[in-house]
Amino acid sequence: TQPLVDVRDLRVHFFTPEGVVKAVDGVSFTVERGQTVSLVGESGSGKSMTALSFLRLIDPPGKIVGGEILFKGRELVRLPERELRRIRGGEIGFVFQEPMTALNPVLPVGEQIAEALLAHTLFDRKEAWERAVELLRQVGIPRPEGVVSSYPHELSGGMRQRVGIAIAIANNPDLVIADEPTTALDVTIQAQILDLLRTLREERNMALLLITHDLGVVAEMADYVLVMYAGRIVEAGPVEAIFDDPRHPYTRGLLRAKPVIGRRERRLYAIPGQVPNLLNLPPGCAFFDRCTFRMPHCRTVFPPYVEVGPGHFVACHLEVKEA
Ligand code: SF4
Ligand code: MG
Repeated sequence: TQPLVDVRDLRVHFFTPEGVVKAVDGVSFTVERGQTVSLVGESGSGKSMTALSFLRLIDPPGKIVGGEILFKGRELVRLPERELRRIRGGEIGFVFQEPMTALNPVLPVGEQIAEALLAHTLFDRKEAWERAVELLRQVGIPRPEGVVSSYPHELSGGMRQRVGIAIAIANNPDLVIADEPTTALDVTIQAQILDLLRTLREERNMALLLITHDLGVVAEMADYVLVMYAGRIVEAGPVEAIFDDPRHPYTRGLLRAKPVIGRRERRLYAIPGQVPNLLNLPPGCAFFDRCTFRMPHCRTVFPPYVEVGPGHFVACHLEVKEA
């Protein structure tokens, strides 16, 4: 059977006056129905651009220049805009980092949920409003009959994110893409929102593509992990393999400063050096400048993917065995 999502060789380039920035450079992965796949990496690694490609919300000078995104067998990169609109907010829901930017400040939240419903169903206004109250209840908002008439600024950050999630799930999507959904929230609220996402995913058998820089979130939520660096996936595998047997020097670096249970810190890791300038990537491995294991040919030869365990892939010359 075909996977729910099949991304093949996705490329998103930015055509800047200084040159072409390859923000996403040959990314491939699949998501199965009901699965949580986490895309992890530092900011600037291309993870948000990968997510936005599903919506085709890449602003100029950015452009999807290659690859395919197959969703339930339909190819989204070249799908006519009309058909994409039906999928966007319908079969695919989105949760953003800062709900305030996703919500309209001058409309009651109930109106905004109702709008999402009206765009994809045959409900009338009254039915949509009633459904909005029900959705607010499902995302754990107390007294939803009152909150439905509130404006976003009257709600806390956590409540606003619950509203954002209500909109994302309004039309029973098969896939929810959440880009740093808890990064803007306090740690306690963060845990509640993650619990909510996990519960909704299980109850509704939705797949979740969870984008985060936080390995604590990955450990708690993901079935499968994609580690992104400089526009490419450098390691991919089942969550246990990534945490118990990380192979890529970048992944190992991320995990070395793994969060300690009970110690709550925002910054979870720090690998010496900077994410490379995407305008001047070496022709070989993009991690070369920061890698303590580097070998001379790493700079010039592109590291191929090597399968090191079931479903566990690494792009690193250390894994290439001599023939
Ligand atoms: Fe380090 Fe070479 Fe592996 Fe790149 S390919 S991560 S430089 S060892
Ligand atoms: Mg981002």
